[in-house]
Amino acid sequence: MSHPYADELYLGLATVRTAAAICQTVQAAITSEALDKKDSSPVTVADFASQAVICHAIGNVFASDPMIAEEDSFALRQPENAGFLREIHGLILRHYGPATNDEIFNWIDRGGAKTYSSRFWTLDPIDGTKGFLRRDQYAISLALIVDGQIQLGILACPNLGTKSQSGHSLFYAIRGHGAFATRMDADSEMQPIRVTQTADAAAARFCESFESSHSSHSESSKIADRLGIQSAPVRMDSQAKYATIASGEAEIYLRLPTKTGYFEKIWDHAGGVLIVEEAGGRVTDLAGKPLDFTQGSELRRNRGVIVTNGALHNTVLSVTQAVLATENE
Ligand code: AMP
Ligand code: MG
Repeated sequence: MSHPYADELYLGLATVRTAAAICQTVQAAITSEALDKKDSSPVTVADFASQAVICHAIGNVFASDPMIAEEDSFALRQPENAGFLREIHGLILRHYGPATNDEIFNWIDRGGAKTYSSRFWTLDPIDGTKGFLRRDQYAISLALIVDGQIQLGILACPNLGTKSQSGHSLFYAIRGHGAFATRMDADSEMQPIRVTQTADAAAARFCESFESSHSSHSESSKIADRLGIQSAPVRMDSQAKYATIASGEAEIYLRLPTKTGYFEKIWDHAGGVLIVEEAGGRVTDLAGKPLDFTQGSELRRNRGVIVTNGALHNTVLSVTQAVLATENE
């Protein structure tokens, strides 16, 4: 298929696959003991290593493209974190190639853009850190935004494939060219994905954050009741929720604000949004407005996020608005 951004896509897929291999190596080594202790060091190591390799690979080829990514190297430069740095160094060497410590810091800090520009990338090197630590769902999300529009979205959800018959764990979309899914191994076939056609709200399956501090579970349960939905929500960390809607495994993903003053981060959405839209779905905020990616690292002009298969969007939007209005009375 010929399409614009072919170079960005192939590079993006390759580097996200490398980062996913790093994350899977780290996740596989999480012991039950570390889990019990709620030791978050594995996510720290994987997060930095993932950001380093992706920022380096993209920056090498698209040197003038800024990258707005979640992490920076400040903490990693501190002497008390030398152990983390050694582990990151080893992972990068094994999965990517040799790098000095200074190179690792610089690679990570290639992701340090903060402000909007006419062409930039955004990256979440591990989205869903809590899921990663529970050895459950997490995602690596990479997107290219040009003139405020997401043009390319890539989501690696390494543990999603094991939950579905398709085995798909890598998803991507190019604006105007559809959404596709494949397996994590490099020579797997790309398959187009579509949202479902379900227009019957009562039959819809919905998903939400595992963490109730990231999206209100009590409000979503009222919305589900009003929609006549009987089945329990599927709770899942990370943008794997976007991939789930895009592949027709669920119809609704609600992100309902839990505190005033919090703005959603662009890297928590950009990759997933285009994949859902190109699979035929719709994404808006709670007011029904499209997400605005022109405000730097945050979605400062939006509140909450509603993701659906499209057919259900207006119904879900109006029920959500009605439920939230009564809450605020
Ligand atoms: P999820 O996996 O859906 O729980 O979303 C994970 C993301 O939630 C993280 O990457 C954080 O950036 C983001 N997050 C942190 N605090 C909040 C909050 N109060 N409301 C919404 N999202 C948040
Ligand atoms: Mg995140």
